[in-house]
Amino acid sequence: MSRTEVKTRPPLVPLGTLLGRELRNEGVDKPAIKYGQAAMSKKGEDYFLIELKCERNIENSSKPFSVFGIFDGHNGISAAVYTKENLLNNVLTAIPQGLSREEWLQALPQALVAGFVKTDIEFQQKGETSGTTVTFVVIDELTVTVASVGDSRCILDAQCGVVVLTVDHRLEENVEERERVTASGGEVGRLNVFGGNEVGPLRCWPGGLCLSRSIGDTDVGEFIVPVPHVKQVKLPNAGGRLIIASDGIWDALSSDMAAQACRGLPAELSAKLVVKEALRSRGLKDDTTCLVVDILSYDHPVLPPVVRKRQSPLTSFILRKKSQNLTNKGTSNLSAVGVVEELFEEGSAMLAERLGKDSHLDPNSGLAKCAICQVDQPSSDCNSDNSETIFLSAKPLEGPILCTNCLKKKDAMEGKRATTSTQAA
Ligand SMILES: [Zn+2]
Repeated sequence: MSRTEVKTRPPLVPLGTLLGRELRNEGVDKPAIKYGQAAMSKKGEDYFLIELKCERNIENSSKPFSVFGIFDGHNGISAAVYTKENLLNNVLTAIPQGLSREEWLQALPQALVAGFVKTDIEFQQKGETSGTTVTFVVIDELTVTVASVGDSRCILDAQCGVVVLTVDHRLEENVEERERVTASGGEVGRLNVFGGNEVGPLRCWPGGLCLSRSIGDTDVGEFIVPVPHVKQVKLPNAGGRLIIASDGIWDALSSDMAAQACRGLPAELSAKLVVKEALRSRGLKDDTTCLVVDILSYDHPVLPPVVRKRQSPLTSFILRKKSQNLTNKGTSNLSAVGVVEELFEEGSAMLAERLGKDSHLDPNSGLAKCAICQVDQPSSDCNSDNSETIFLSAKPLEGPILCTNCLKKKDAMEGKRATTSTQAA
């Protein structure tokens, strides 16, 4: 054995030590990420984002995280382009400084909500009318956090089966969203062609959009909200594969079909195969974009084969934290799968339920930050320090601290204000 060989080989670590490190949440090496991307364009309105080494503002920032996103634009590309360029930064600025990694992960779902809404407000102030779906995936070691509006989708193919991590915000398929839109003053119905025949999918009016959530869409009712469904899971040590794709894929393939079309193959080839399979079955009817992301654990350099067998009670557990207002569609799928740990899920469109009530008070200055745009509230504002404190303690259910502009947006989304006016703000 030569000296160089000895040098390059890492010393063997006893299994007990490895498990101990794992239990102490130190990890050994961060999992590796391999990805592939493929697309076939019909309208040129699909965009995607791949950021492999994002740094966070925490003390031990040596471990970067990765972000993958798909933005399927409609009525033009500007909302998709704007969101691709600004959303990540808007999410990161909504995470408080000085957190540990664990605290950072816990703060992420709320920061995603703030970042989505902030991006929407800023885009609408430009006065452009296009809109976009967003499927935004943050991968931090084995923890995967997915935030989404619209009908692009992210699925997880883990060793025990396929889990859908997003919820489709299509009026046709989502009865909860139909009820929310109607309660907020919108009308849901199909297009009427001459003769009174109804055609096409359910849409909401004014605007005629088939989606109930998006970023942009200044010219439709404000009950079309940018508040994302957020789900956070921890993968088993064996890792897993994410398939993130626009509706051009999902209109042609079920989640299982997409996973099966490429299982066991490298990510780059897999993305091409999923697109090819979708085109084969449906033709090129829409923009079709697919990202395949393999999260490979240190002790599993390749994804293990999927074993479809009856799980024993011990291995099929799933630890799920209590969460309110779950949308049923996503969770029912997850219950069939073992050893994927669900850390968080929330899909409510109500900002009062999604943004914390007191976490944006700066303990040093006593100043309150708007929970959406993160701007300090000036003391001349009607929400001054004193009234803020009284407000929080006396009416804790009234909701998060918001600046005037963001409060207007919140009221409009909830149907408390009839007109679109973020442009005028
Ligand atoms: Zn604000």
